Amino acid sequence: MFTEKLQKALNDQITHELYSSYLYLSMAAHFEAANLPGFAHWMHAQADEEREHGMKFFEFIYDRGGRVKLQAIEQPPTEFGSPLQVFEQVLGHEQKVTSLINDLYALAQQEKDYPTQVMLHWFIDEQVEEEKNAAAIIELLKLAGESGPALLMADRQLGSRAGD
Ligand code: MG
Repeated sequence: MFTEKLQKALNDQITHELYSSYLYLSMAAHFEAANLPGFAHWMHAQADEEREHGMKFFEFIYDRGGRVKLQAIEQPPTEFGSPLQVFEQVLGHEQKVTSLINDLYALAQQEKDYPTQVMLHWFIDEQVEEEKNAAAIIELLKLAGESGPALLMADRQLGSRAGD
């Protein structure tokens, strides 16, 4: 069993992960409206992955004999701008999530909770991937420009992302 403080922070992280899922689902809706089905597909896959992240925390809390308390999920924005602007927002959001995971790790160290530290190693690696992927798509979109055939090719490329 972990301390109340750590249990609260882990519960908060479920909310952050579910908000990420909600944010990416809103970005999927944005791309559906913009007739960019490949980008929309990528965002749907990303939203599913974030829900799974939330569930990893959910299950971990139960594995440790804790109690999950779900909280309200904030409304995400509905307008995001051009594809490049969207992915700049994705990168900014993932950088925020990275700092939340780092704070959680620091708390687990402070509370001397070793199982939580081990569990968080997976998330620390995952955040490196998330930031790397968003940065790579930003570079692709800078090359592709705001419209035209290169953007449609980028849309097709993102549409080939496997479902997670
Ligand atoms: Mg996540």
